Amino acid sequence: MFDDSAAIKVVIDAIPVAIFIKDSSSRFVVLNKACELQWGLSYAALRGTNGSQFFPRDQMDSFLARDREIFDRGYLLDYEETVWNVDLQQNRFIHTFKKPVFDEAHKPLYLVCVAVDITDRKLATEKLLLSEEKLRTMFNMSPLGMARNSMDGVFIEANASFLTIVGYTLEELNRLSYWDLTPASYADQEAKQLESLKTSGRYGPYDKDYINNLGQRVPVRLNGVLITGSDGDQFIWSIVEDISQLIHTDNQLRIAAAAFESQEAMMVTDAASVILRVNRAFTETTGYSEEEAVGQTPRLLRSGRHDANFYRTMWETINRTGGWQGEVWDRCKNGEVYPKWLTISSVKNDQGVVTHYIGAHFDITERKQAEEEINQLAFFDQLTSLPNRTLLLDRLQQLMTASSRNGSYGALLFIDLDHFKTLNDTLGHDMGDLLLKQVAERLTTCVRAGDTVARLGGDEFVVMLASLTTNAEEAAAQTKTIGEKILSVLNQTYQLNLVTYHSTASIGATLFRSDLVTIDDLMKQADLAMYKSKDEGRNALHFFDPHMETAVRKHAALESELMRAVEQRQFVLHYQAQVVDTGRVTGAEALVRWQHPERGLVYPDEFIPLSEETGLILLLGQWVLETACQQLTAWAGQPGMAQLTVTVNVSARQLYQSDFVDQVLSALERSGANPQRLKLELTESLLVANVEAVITKMTKLKANGVGVSLDDFATGHSSLYYLKRLPVDQLKIDRRFVRDILIDPIDAAIARMIIALGESLGLAVIAEGVETEAQRNFLVQQGCHAYQGYLFSRPLPLNEFEQFAMGLEPLSKTNVPHRTDCHGL
Ligand code: C2E
Ligand code: CA
Ligand code: CA
Repeated sequence: MFDDSAAIKVVIDAIPVAIFIKDSSSRFVVLNKACELQWGLSYAALRGTNGSQFFPRDQMDSFLARDREIFDRGYLLDYEETVWNVDLQQNRFIHTFKKPVFDEAHKPLYLVCVAVDITDRKLATEKLLLSEEKLRTMFNMSPLGMARNSMDGVFIEANASFLTIVGYTLEELNRLSYWDLTPASYADQEAKQLESLKTSGRYGPYDKDYINNLGQRVPVRLNGVLITGSDGDQFIWSIVEDISQLIHTDNQLRIAAAAFESQEAMMVTDAASVILRVNRAFTETTGYSEEEAVGQTPRLLRSGRHDANFYRTMWETINRTGGWQGEVWDRCKNGEVYPKWLTISSVKNDQGVVTHYIGAHFDITERKQAEEEINQLAFFDQLTSLPNRTLLLDRLQQLMTASSRNGSYGALLFIDLDHFKTLNDTLGHDMGDLLLKQVAERLTTCVRAGDTVARLGGDEFVVMLASLTTNAEEAAAQTKTIGEKILSVLNQTYQLNLVTYHSTASIGATLFRSDLVTIDDLMKQADLAMYKSKDEGRNALHFFDPHMETAVRKHAALESELMRAVEQRQFVLHYQAQVVDTGRVTGAEALVRWQHPERGLVYPDEFIPLSEETGLILLLGQWVLETACQQLTAWAGQPGMAQLTVTVNVSARQLYQSDFVDQVLSALERSGANPQRLKLELTESLLVANVEAVITKMTKLKANGVGVSLDDFATGHSSLYYLKRLPVDQLKIDRRFVRDILIDPIDAAIARMIIALGESLGLAVIAEGVETEAQRNFLVQQGCHAYQGYLFSRPLPLNEFEQFAMGLEPLSKTNVPHRTDCHGL
């Protein structure tokens, strides 16, 4: 507390400098005698007031603003100001010192002020400055415009900067007066400035517009003094500053400030991502006040929903393009996580260095919810939440496109509940709805992730199966398995509130593999198939394509039959001659046939794929190998046959067995066959996986004398690199190329390529499927001299082959009636 004791008052009253103290509201608490003189006011009048009833309004404003500023800054400030003296009725130039005093809690208490009247000194200085020479130099070099006018406004002189501002030459200017440059609208302000000039000897700072030589307005800031020359003449000296840039910047700042307080939440960070400013919308959406946010980094808002990778990509984009925008999940102060649309822009200085980042965001929770709802309404069934017809058709279209590309089948199952109408009519729709919901749940359990269960409406459901196999029969079998599972799952009793209910369904299925069929047709097919199930007493599954049903049935039957066939050794080997030049037999390819008890001879195309799939090929292959080896041994003692080789086809599954090499070697050993006479025929497709292992195995076999031939060469995508490393003896030109070798230039080129490749790698080449002389002649021309094909011989039963090989049946193609079909090619 200030001690307002009389003693102190006496002391400070004796000091010739104005000293006064104001409280935190700028009210005078103490002032000394010198103050009374300086302002022409008594202590009694001022005490307890802030002086507003005595000082002019503009001075009052600046006093109060200064006081606030000093409290804000917290340290002493000194400055010059003009203060009205009531007694003298004039402004005095005062040099004021103010120092703030705070309590322990840094609450403003007092301002201690000292005010020195410098009017006399100032005028003296001004006079001094008037010394002609100094003035000239200043005048010419000043970046500020300077001009001297007579009291009635005529321009007497002006410096270069001034001429630049107004756009006139000095001669032109001399013919003009101050008023020619001043827009009429300034009349009032001009009068005020003139008044100030008369009373205080100076005017300004005064912001106005000049009209330049082109009639354009130029914003300027004027300051001026009244000068009395030695002869008593008076002039006005004005200092003029072009403030267009200042105003521009100021406007920019004001616009920016207004924009910053927009609806969008914004934050400004420095280059190190430290938050410098946030706006009100930011505080409203995040819950963090400016004080809480400033000094933190935007990490404050992270929800943990995005991984490091997300932010890394975001920053990469910002660094590369200068900005980023996208959806971000952030966390509010209250812990709530919400989605927002965030835009980040970097601010760069003239050197292109990032100085700040600006982040703007708005909450998109509502938009997302709306999207979600629309999505739900548009694509999902309201009762069961399953995809609706629209979404199903969309997915179906996609799946058809995909399967036409990758060759795997898809299936559509139409499911209709049996007697659903009766349930609805007797127990009511609510019960019906309950049943539909449970059916939906059960259906969902029957399918895999990529499949779709949809509800078309009423009691109609559709299951779409994706990515079945590439084989129609197998795909049908898979579909049947799932269809039957659905039937049995839907067959279980339902608990509908208190009612125990039993229901069945009828299913129609159709397969598809291309987008050649329309969606409409597919839906109709499945629908028709479903009606077939209804017709046949419900609780059944039917395929649209009757072949499919037969195929499914046959597939299953074949599987068990084949199993039996392997057990009962219902197989025979036929031998197809391999010849050189005009017909000398060098060996045979062993081709397996199934001696079916009812169906007669069944060809490999019908059972090899299935036995590969079921693994039966291992037993079958073993049998073929053993039989071929025994045959070699038998021929070894037969004149005319001893030199022949036997080629055995090997399936991928066989080759991939770890003990494959041992199997071959022990078959050779057991039979006593000469390994040099055995050739294994691999298809190129074997080489897609595990090439290294295959190479190892073949190398071992080869070391034991066994030959290797590569069938179907150039039909797959094996690389030449592997071909070079694979210990192959022979390349076979597949019958697919030979067939059209005379018609199709591409096939001819492939054949030529294989022949050339064989030559350069030192491999033998044999052409398969040679049916005509013309084909053979073409091959001869290309340099291929080994053949296999109907031109020479069809695959023959053992004794027939033996006769043929020994030259007893020269043209057996005429006497073998077996097959008329063309092996599916
Ligand atoms: P592949 O190895 O390409 O056998 C050649 C096929 O072409 C044989 O059909 C043969 O009868 C037929 N063929 C031969 N010359 C001609 C001709 O001039 N014109 C035409 N159009 N066809 C000719 P097959 O015997 O029906 O064998 C079909 C496929 O079954 C074989 O194709 C082979 O991949 C497989 N296969 C046959 N036997 C076995 C076996 O023991 N084990 C394994 N894993 N697969 C076998
Ligand atoms: Ca073959
Ligand atoms: Ca072949």
